[in-house]
Amino acid sequence: MSDATVDYRPMWQALGLDLEAHDMLLTAIPQLYADAYLSQSDRPEGMAYFDFVLSEIHGLRIKELQDHKAAGGTVIGTFCLYVPEEIIRALGGLAVGLCAGAEWAYDQVEQLLPRNTCALIKSAMGFKMGKVCPYVESADLVIGETTCDGKKKAYELFGELAPVYVMELPQMKRPQDMSLWRSELDRLVTELERVSGRTLTLEALQKATKEVNDKRRALQRLNAARAARPAPISGKDALLAVQVAFYDDVPRFTQMVNRIADELEQRVAAGKGVAPCAAPRVLVTGSPMSLPNWKVHDLVEKAGGVVVAEELCTGARYYEKLVAEDASTVEGLLDDIATKYLDINCACFTPNPGRIDDVLRLAGQYKADGILHYALQFCAPYQIEATTVERAAREAGIPVLRVDTDYSMEDVGQLGTRIEAFLEMLQG
Ligand code: SF4
Ligand code: SF4
Repeated sequence: MSDATVDYRPMWQALGLDLEAHDMLLTAIPQLYADAYLSQSDRPEGMAYFDFVLSEIHGLRIKELQDHKAAGGTVIGTFCLYVPEEIIRALGGLAVGLCAGAEWAYDQVEQLLPRNTCALIKSAMGFKMGKVCPYVESADLVIGETTCDGKKKAYELFGELAPVYVMELPQMKRPQDMSLWRSELDRLVTELERVSGRTLTLEALQKATKEVNDKRRALQRLNAARAARPAPISGKDALLAVQVAFYDDVPRFTQMVNRIADELEQRVAAGKGVAPCAAPRVLVTGSPMSLPNWKVHDLVEKAGGVVVAEELCTGARYYEKLVAEDASTVEGLLDDIATKYLDINCACFTPNPGRIDDVLRLAGQYKADGILHYALQFCAPYQIEATTVERAAREAGIPVLRVDTDYSMEDVGQLGTRIEAFLEMLQG
């Protein structure tokens, strides 16, 4: 996954990676990517950018992070949508997502965490313990949050391996919860000022807010095109764009995604799609899907369906809402940032009716024939909330398939069969 003409090994070695294990990782991923992505026909030409990004995700992008640090900037690792990228950027930081989507070093992880911990937590811990993630090794600080119990407790152990700072995220959305959350943003500013040696200014926060909003606007454009029949881009490709949004250079990413959106709008005008008009359209909702986890999308699309939207943290939850840009003081802008972020509807909140509304709204907007509820095994928030989602969808007359899985490939045969049967039912 790196430019063969550049030797990045000295950089990886300097970061403390286990080069042998890292080589194994870099051998495995391109094959999986080729099988899922490069095998697609009629892909938008603009997706070549993402092929390049993936090929350089441990190479050029890591070099850019090192250059940024050498120039006095910081790299800040995050695990959750609630950590405001705007504040990190305004204080000279580059935010990188550290959630991982592949099984790694589970033998070591399971000496620390129970086996029945969700794959996302085990995988993130495994990439750190196995020394194969140059992003976490580049991070000056890792920001955790009090979301689900698994993450909360895992951060205590992760903090023994890397500098970790934890934000307290409330679990409800009452006025007193907003006050707590707003005070947590002040606490975060203080911590990031300490790490960066800078002071937060209005100009920097306004600029960062506009840049991150532009990134989200570009993703909104790309995704809006998916409402067309036939869908102009596969769900897999659209998912990849959001997954990469957590790592890539923000202005470059925005420019490239807008270019793909232009292409998709032309495809829609020409009635050109990646799947037949009659292909069953599926909305996917549930636990996050971090790179390189595209298992469910791949199964749906190889079975003849098309994923048209994601109510996921690696989907609409990430790009739908923007921060208001008109505040004229730091305090006012932090208020607007607090409002935007607390408005995200994660299953860690109780009650969480906003997510049900979002799922039904997106299903209508994207003309979904069915909903696939995807939960990672041992992800209690999403596995339990699946019941509420399924009930509401059935009342609205939308069929639902519930899938509980992990990052292994062991259940692919059985899952594929269930998904095929679901798609047949949607067509019938
Ligand atoms: S599912 Fe919830 S806790 Fe997990 S990343 Fe998304 S917002 Fe954060
Ligand atoms: S997938 Fe579920 S259990 Fe795992 S970290 Fe996210 S919310 Fe927690």
